[in-house]
Amino acid sequence: MYKARAYACTSPTAALAGTTIPRRDVADRDVRIEILFCGICHSDLHQARDEWHDAVPTTYPCVPGHEIVGRVTKVGPGVTKFKVGDVVGVGCLVGADHTCPNCKGGLEQFCPNATFTYNSPDRHGTAPVTYGGYSESVVVEEDMVLRIPTNLDLAGAAPLLCAGITTYSPLRRQGVGPGKKVGVVGLGGLGHMGVKLAHAMGAHVAVFTTSPGKTEDAKRLGADEVIVSKDADAMKKHSGSFDMILDCVSADHDINAYLNLVRVGGNLTLVGAPEKPLPVSAFALFFGNKTLSGSMIGGIAQTQEMLDFCGKHGITSDVEVIPIQRVNEAYERMLKGDVKYRFSIDMASLKS
Ligand SMILES: [Zn+2]
Ligand SMILES: [Zn+2]
Repeated sequence: MYKARAYACTSPTAALAGTTIPRRDVADRDVRIEILFCGICHSDLHQARDEWHDAVPTTYPCVPGHEIVGRVTKVGPGVTKFKVGDVVGVGCLVGADHTCPNCKGGLEQFCPNATFTYNSPDRHGTAPVTYGGYSESVVVEEDMVLRIPTNLDLAGAAPLLCAGITTYSPLRRQGVGPGKKVGVVGLGGLGHMGVKLAHAMGAHVAVFTTSPGKTEDAKRLGADEVIVSKDADAMKKHSGSFDMILDCVSADHDINAYLNLVRVGGNLTLVGAPEKPLPVSAFALFFGNKTLSGSMIGGIAQTQEMLDFCGKHGITSDVEVIPIQRVNEAYERMLKGDVKYRFSIDMASLKS
């Protein structure tokens, strides 16, 4: 074991602060990564503050961060996919059994023995739970490590590991491509990735927003049109016309209004996580054989496919790069939606 510098919180109300954490030594098939950038995901804040207590209670100290980009500094003797110096990524998962039906189907995120990147029981026994990317380094088994295309800006590539795959996976599942009309609800960390990816896949992309002020930015990101959701006439014009709507809103909202815009046989996928259950009208679904689904990140192979797609199309997240010392302030700003569109922590700041 060795000690790594990190930022952690020690209670639901404590600010994140500098500390050191244990990391395991590199075993046969492990890769040690010097972390260069780590994106800030809304889940980081939820878990740092133990807001998902009923589903995933937080064990303290908690080191969040699952949008990790870094450089390989050491590999175990059995490692075949990576070498020292490679630029790699780690997303929400650091372990799975690789033998269950979900793993075999490329859905490691649903493996009953999955280990998540932070706040997940540490099967290696280095600490009670895993510690995430707000740290100078991490050790991960090579099967959970991803290659980052070398043409991408690394600060902007970090959020692809969660926000990128969260939006890419349902777009692919619904066969989004040329000739398809896709709506994106909510232009935040997830939504702005949904717009970029659906646009690159060749779809006609519409962004729904409550604030007309976001029109120009939505178009810059790749939207073909912007629909102000409070404008009843504008909404009515699009009735029954969308192949798919990607709903990225984590606040309370009327999903029936969006289901009405889905075409016969079309789909609405939820990737945002509103606190309270959303009322769904059965009529909005059965008039048109529509489906309502959810989606949670993606498996390892699809995450690599997404990264390669982003490399090919030059897609990264729009980020505001911050030093780790400003992470608490970044959390407050994220709560207010005051970021375009993701914070990315420059981990070199941990050394200062
Ligand atoms: Zn996340
Ligand atoms: Zn499994």
